[in-house]
Amino acid sequence: MNSEKKCIKVVSADGKQYYKSADPQYYNNYFKNNKKLIECDICGKTVTCQLYSHKRSKACIFAKQNLEIAELKKELIIFKNPL
Ligand SMILES: [Zn+2]
Repeated sequence: MNSEKKCIKVVSADGKQYYKSADPQYYNNYFKNNKKLIECDICGKTVTCQLYSHKRSKACIFAKQNLEIAELKKELIIFKNPL
């Protein structure tokens, strides 16, 4: 049996009680262990985290615009050369 406590009881200033991990590096290790690679569905780039902010970045916006332009060009070719 491990005699060390995993959690510490903390009382906040307004009287509420909660439990906190005894390991100060707990949250850093948690994010390290649970890091997942996510693939952006617009440009296909793999992102470690923060997909939302990646989608607002210039690189992703340009990729999205290029895709839209390519689709418009396809439509234009069909419009110019009807069957
Ligand atoms: Zn992207």
